[in-house]
Amino acid sequence: MDDCIFCKIVRGEIPSEKVYEDDQVLAFLDLSQVTKGHTLVIPKKHARNVFDLPPETAAELFRRIPKIANALKTAFPLEGMNILNNNEEIASQTVFHCHIHLIPRYSKKDDFGLIWKDNSDTYDEEEFKKRAEAIREQLKYT
Ligand code: AMP
Ligand code: ZN
Repeated sequence: MDDCIFCKIVRGEIPSEKVYEDDQVLAFLDLSQVTKGHTLVIPKKHARNVFDLPPETAAELFRRIPKIANALKTAFPLEGMNILNNNEEIASQTVFHCHIHLIPRYSKKDDFGLIWKDNSDTYDEEEFKKRAEAIREQLKYT
């Protein structure tokens, strides 16, 4: 895509600090460095986000992630890692070329956090089943 910033990075038209590259996947440091070593992994072929990602591209993208995550783990004294993928504006996507964030975690006081409310206290068996059924219907899974 002509005006896509990550496609421009793939084509070398704008600079990036690359840490991994092959024919299908590129990984480079995220400018924002939410935590030290924060890295983005992208398919070279443009896709807007996960809703638009061909399964083969997804497979090629994700199969590189353990290797890159382990490189970060060896390079830095991280205690853990959040692997994050934002899809569409409501979910905080700001660059519309699919990418996976690798965010090393060093301590609970890192500049990264997730609000993850546990609603299990309002568990409703019927509603739970209805939700699963709605998804199964789309996947035609029984
Ligand atoms: P998201 O909000 O999930 O779409 O993430 C987009 C990420 O791209 C942000 O964390 C930005 O810091 C990062 N970013 C934007 N432009 C660049 C760039 N030129 N080089 C590296 N990272 C970038
Ligand atoms: Zn792109």
